[in-house]
Amino acid sequence: MTKNEPVRDSWRAKPAAQQPSWPDSEALTSVLTDLSTAVPLVFAGECDQLRTRMAAVARGEAFLLQGGDCAESFTAVSADNIRNTLKTILQMAVVLTYAGSVPVVKVGRIGGQYSKPRSQGTETRDGVTLPVYRGDSVNGPDFTAASRTPDPKRLRRMYNASAATLNLVRAFTAGGYAALDQVHAWNQDFVALSASGERYERLAREIDRALAFMKACGAHPDALDDVEFYASHEALILDYEAALTRVDSRGGDLYDTSAHMLWIGERTRQLEGAHVAFASTVRNPIAVKLGPGVAADEVLALIDKLDPDREPGRLSFITRMGADKARDALPPLVEKVTASGAQVAWICDPMHGNTFKTPSGYKTRSLDAMMDEVGGFFETHRSLGTHPGGIHVELTGSDVTECVGGGDEVHVDQLPLRYETVCDPRLNRRQSLDLAFLVAEMYRG
Ligand code: PEP
Ligand code: MN
Repeated sequence: MTKNEPVRDSWRAKPAAQQPSWPDSEALTSVLTDLSTAVPLVFAGECDQLRTRMAAVARGEAFLLQGGDCAESFTAVSADNIRNTLKTILQMAVVLTYAGSVPVVKVGRIGGQYSKPRSQGTETRDGVTLPVYRGDSVNGPDFTAASRTPDPKRLRRMYNASAATLNLVRAFTAGGYAALDQVHAWNQDFVALSASGERYERLAREIDRALAFMKACGAHPDALDDVEFYASHEALILDYEAALTRVDSRGGDLYDTSAHMLWIGERTRQLEGAHVAFASTVRNPIAVKLGPGVAADEVLALIDKLDPDREPGRLSFITRMGADKARDALPPLVEKVTASGAQVAWICDPMHGNTFKTPSGYKTRSLDAMMDEVGGFFETHRSLGTHPGGIHVELTGSDVTECVGGGDEVHVDQLPLRYETVCDPRLNRRQSLDLAFLVAEMYRG
């Protein structure tokens, strides 16, 4: 028994919200046994490196850009989708780095974002009631009894899909695709199509001139060729996360090797719940979502549980208050956390507090509300002297029509054209760039 064995399973004694009711416990055990010896998807040293980067975010020296699908799906694992998501994040990062003049820590909601917490356990359509869709790791989105029945074998498919995705992400980011001299190439299919593409192109030309100048001076830092890109997802299905947790051969600590960073969702952050207990056992950087109902004392207690050593970079809070509440809900939390002496990273998720249903039944979000919430986030941190540390967004590189607004405006009546998400509405590439330009402006002040 290693020093970590008793700690490792401590979360199992706590109540775990939002776990699937698997119909077949033997099949579940067999999949988990298999996963417990599967090759780790990330190296513990990379998690440590991201913790160092997040410490810079907490200190006010860097900005986090975290984005990707609300829910990845097995059928969407393709080179095109992965490249387009990556490209969108890289373009946003370039805008933020150049226009905002700040180093950007890039983290995808990618390679593991397959599990969804839900407000309702069942869904009724035309008098038929079935279990709700909980993400491809659990069941299928189709509204049939067969598809909605949880199947533990899906956890293995989640691992395989994550491994394939992360492999390609690593190939793109280390193989030259993400090098800064590609800033124009990422935009080629896009520039003629939109105002945000044109705006980006102008910025890319400035970057080119700066690169040419550096080259003429004989400088070519390695940082221009490779991109550090990290993977994250919500640590929701604890059996899966625990099966991928490994003792690090370097020092004996536990790491959840399913992703570099894990977050705890708004619905599973109970102080005495299993998700917080699980996260407290692993060394990965951890984030917690905070909605408008959270009390400052709960936030302080989360710090005690998840960051007892007050280590900058270990803990981030992702606030998702809603545009109408951000300016009231955020200041008391930030003030109390600052007064406690903890140095956390504050990140704004302007999406989950701003979801609404259109009269025709589409779940959507407006870019105006998101920008308003980001504005409240910046105002709050500026007035309290704390660092607005980053944004957390749901986006895709495809030209979907799921959120309304933006420079090339998507109207409510256009939502049916390409509404493809299996869960929450995502920003398309233009809307993502619009948001990045705005955030860069706010960051610069
Ligand atoms: C999500 O990030 O997709 C999500 C469900 O967020 P939250 O926990 O903040 O509601
Ligand atoms: Mn979501």
